[in-house]
Amino acid sequence: MNIEMLNGVGPKSALLFKKIGIFTVEDLLEYYPYRYNFINLINFFDIPENEVVYLKVKVAREAKVMYIKRNFNTLSFTAIVNDININVKIFNRGYLKQNIIVGKYLVLVGKYDKLRNTFIANDIRFDGVENKIEGIYHLTDGINNNFLYKTINKVLTDDYLIKDELPEYLNKKYKLIKKCDAINLIHNPKSQNDIDKAKVKLIYDEFFNYTFKINLLKINNKKELGIKHNFNKELVNEFLSELPFKLTEDQLTTIHEVLNDLEKESRMNRLIMGDVGSGKTIVAAVGILANFYSGYQSTFMAPTEILANQHLDTITNLFKDLGLKISILTGSLTKKKKELIYESVKNGEIDLLIGTHALINDNLSFKNLGLVITDEQHLFGVNQRNALQNKGKVLKPDVLYLSATPIPRTYALTIYGDLDLSMIRTKPKMRLDIITKVKSEKEITDVLYKMLEEIKLGHQIFVVSPLIDNNETDLKSVYLLLEKLNLAFKSKVNIGVIHGKMKQKEKDEIMNNFHKGIIKILISTTVIEVGIDIPNATMMVIFNAERFGLATLHQLRGRVGRNDIQSYCYLISEKDNDRLKVMEESSDGFYISEKDFEQRGQGNLFGIEQSGELLFKIADIKRDSKILISASNDSKEFIITNMYKDYEYYKNLEKEILFLD
Ligand code: ADP
Ligand code: MG
Repeated sequence: MNIEMLNGVGPKSALLFKKIGIFTVEDLLEYYPYRYNFINLINFFDIPENEVVYLKVKVAREAKVMYIKRNFNTLSFTAIVNDININVKIFNRGYLKQNIIVGKYLVLVGKYDKLRNTFIANDIRFDGVENKIEGIYHLTDGINNNFLYKTINKVLTDDYLIKDELPEYLNKKYKLIKKCDAINLIHNPKSQNDIDKAKVKLIYDEFFNYTFKINLLKINNKKELGIKHNFNKELVNEFLSELPFKLTEDQLTTIHEVLNDLEKESRMNRLIMGDVGSGKTIVAAVGILANFYSGYQSTFMAPTEILANQHLDTITNLFKDLGLKISILTGSLTKKKKELIYESVKNGEIDLLIGTHALINDNLSFKNLGLVITDEQHLFGVNQRNALQNKGKVLKPDVLYLSATPIPRTYALTIYGDLDLSMIRTKPKMRLDIITKVKSEKEITDVLYKMLEEIKLGHQIFVVSPLIDNNETDLKSVYLLLEKLNLAFKSKVNIGVIHGKMKQKEKDEIMNNFHKGIIKILISTTVIEVGIDIPNATMMVIFNAERFGLATLHQLRGRVGRNDIQSYCYLISEKDNDRLKVMEESSDGFYISEKDFEQRGQGNLFGIEQSGELLFKIADIKRDSKILISASNDSKEFIITNMYKDYEYYKNLEKEILFLD
């Protein structure tokens, strides 16, 4: 049911709800508190020194507001508790004055200073607070905790039907409570025990459903017969020996794994993970070549048009004189050109078709597709994995995924559990590490100086200014930065701005001008595409770096250092600088993502925020690893024994995941 159907949720709040990922009533119910406040009203005589307490008081005298300076005021009043008068003070809440009504009860949240007989409040609650446990939710401007909580509870008291899809025998096995009780308790717990019971159920369910999909894919893939590629190894080796560089150890291992997979009868489903620049393209190219020598067509899908064109250049160059016919298919081609390509792909005149998502098109069919390669900058969801593979019609092509987002092995094994994994960790020797420095804002002149130096050398610079909410105030900060930089460089440097609220056409134009070198400094928010390659960019400056996880910073940093000139990355931050030091020390994406995982957990790993599907709402792979293992074993058994065929819900999941109709 759509969220707008709820009483009390108008179109305006519906938009706000959508902003935090709540589209339906189900989403709302599964929007769980991320922590709880344990509210215990305290007895005045028991107040400990220096601890935040909840104290119920009666207002004795009207409040006074003192305006100290702009943006700073104090509100104070006298209150009575246990027949004793105390002073109450709260900062910057002048607007509460009218709500402090003599004779009324309210609850102060804060610390009591005995010596001065003054309660320094950080919050005042007017809503009849009782002893209770209060869920705290992630919010957005315009939706406060109370409104969210009330909306959720309205649905709950309306007896909205919450179905428990988990097979009953599993609920019994682990003595799990019913789903509807779990949802109720997670929002309205009476004790820590309530929270624990609810969590176990919800975490288990979440893992069970996820691993059901993963295991289903995996079992299905293993059963599926693919193409047994038969190629001349001599020819492939010849190609390898003629490369202008020596392959790294990990590249060799990975190439070996790919060729092995191709030769086998079972279908290849392999993910190659490695930092930008670790040399994944060459591995993909070897796969394409072996596939060509076996007499099949290949297709290579890139996330953006720019990247598709880059791949076209690189691969055409690599395959000179080898006789492959290569073509490109992107959305910007004319209808006529597209049709010509469809035609020649169908006839088998094209051996390799490179492209963007335009490749996922019903009009495109291959004569004999043998290998599908997907180069995704981001993590991709389990639901999307099969879209291109189905192009194979009778014979199922082998599939290779490339990912430039290194993630910890334990994590990868879960979310990519249906795929075989290759990791390219070692980097080609010739690549220079990007010199990284963490700076405070006080040291900004160092940064500006360095920027000027790079500009004078004819290089280009990325500046990233993060947005929290992508709202107007945030955007102002981007333009403020533009102003400051213009001031610093006396408007002599061409600076461009790009952000998510621009129209695609505007964005393309700015990107083009940066690509061409007309724009020297590009200020962007993080919403822009990651995959752009500007070899001439040698410097990355990231403001408010503390707002990013290490893995994200590493991804951003990867946009520079793409040629053999020394590149730099400056992280500007006022806090958290110790955490950021990891970036100065390491350029190994796997190491950094492990650190990030340790520090902040899975939710913040790069890309996961963007593809909501991957984000577990309550489960945490690291913290809940035991539940994960049980759930995964159970879902496997559930599939192998064909028990799932008795459940409508799981049969539908199967259809969705395997693209059955
Ligand atoms: P990725 O796709 O992993 O980002 P690429 O495959 O595009 O990385 O490789 C980046 C650059 O490094 C390319 O110019 C490529 O030719 C070069 N390269 C790849 N492998 C090696 C190697 N073993 N030694 C030297 N250079 C290499
Ligand atoms: Mg690449």
